[in-house]
Amino acid sequence: MIYLDYAASTPIDPRVVAVITDIYENHPGNPSSRTHKYGVDCRVIVENARSQVSALMQAYPYEVIFTSGATEANNLAIRGLFDFGSKNDKRHIITSSIEHKSVLNALGYLERAGFEVSYLQPSENGTIGIEQLERAIREDTLLVSIMHANNETGIIQPVEEICDLIDSLPDQKKPYLHVDAAQTAGKICKELQKLRCDMISVSSHKMYGPQGIGALIVKQNDFQGAPIEAILFGGDQEQGLRPGTIPTALIGGFGEAARLALELQERDLECAKAVERTLLQGLSEAGINYAINGSAERMPFTINVMFTGVSSEALMIAGRNEFAISNGSACTSNSYKPSYVLTAMGLTPEEATDSVRISWGRGIDETQMQNFLNTLIPIVKSLQ
Ligand code: PMP
Repeated sequence: MIYLDYAASTPIDPRVVAVITDIYENHPGNPSSRTHKYGVDCRVIVENARSQVSALMQAYPYEVIFTSGATEANNLAIRGLFDFGSKNDKRHIITSSIEHKSVLNALGYLERAGFEVSYLQPSENGTIGIEQLERAIREDTLLVSIMHANNETGIIQPVEEICDLIDSLPDQKKPYLHVDAAQTAGKICKELQKLRCDMISVSSHKMYGPQGIGALIVKQNDFQGAPIEAILFGGDQEQGLRPGTIPTALIGGFGEAARLALELQERDLECAKAVERTLLQGLSEAGINYAINGSAERMPFTINVMFTGVSSEALMIAGRNEFAISNGSACTSNSYKPSYVLTAMGLTPEEATDSVRISWGRGIDETQMQNFLNTLIPIVKSLQ
């Protein structure tokens, strides 16, 4: 059985497990307890991890706000601006129709509270046009929220150009910029490190760390971070932005995952590209009817493929003892409907239904991908 659903969650790196196990076994305590050694030791672990995550993102440690994952980071970035937007008559937000549900549903909440949201549509190639964004920006635009790479297609959005566009606007018209980098953080490091945006959402379990932890990076550009406020009520942990006992072991594991990502980034990327080449070549030589969804630049860890006339459900059932792939995002897969990402890109509901996501990363090599193809292709042929 081969696991090729890394975009849903990556396998945890054994080195991360070792760090987490050590913390669970040897470091009881609450990092916020200042009165004894146990608490202080936990605080050292958390601050060390914060430095590791900030080094990965080329941010300052105080810009890292730990959250339970990218879902919460996205909520904090968006709903956290509610009061500021309301008080300053900035109630317009721009996003795209292919964002993750944690962005779309947080924005739906703001719409119900009187905000207006403009949803940019992707073109057939899977990207959002920069001119479309330029036209949508208004005097009362509070925030632009655009993902770095899409979780279903792996297509990379033009976030650098978006930064340039926002930079070029007069100060009073500049919206805040939030980038959901759940899919790319720890994988496409260089681009993210130089991104001049206000907030970046990161998830540990997409970069070989544990599930249930992530961060919102709130950049203090010119000493002025986006004026977000906490969306939960409680203690003053994480600069008052994220109350709740700080989970030392998860954060320690996330820190180790960030350290490894920084160390292994080139190797991981080269390896993923080689695996992608094997996959693309195998598909092109297979003599089957297929199309790759989205033609723009893609991260070399994820691909979305339509096998014409083959329902994704039938394909996954036929291959369920051999491989794990998916259709759509795990966060929406309880109720299977044709993917809203693919239909927004112009695919018909039938084409979207015939599409699957294959995603890989650290631990998958060319031989394993070839073995997967050797299993997949006869199944596709038998169903076509
Ligand atoms: N945004 C994107 C683009 C994602 O792919 C995911 C994970 N499916 C999330 C946000 C949510 O991340 P988490 O699982 O850490 O809440």
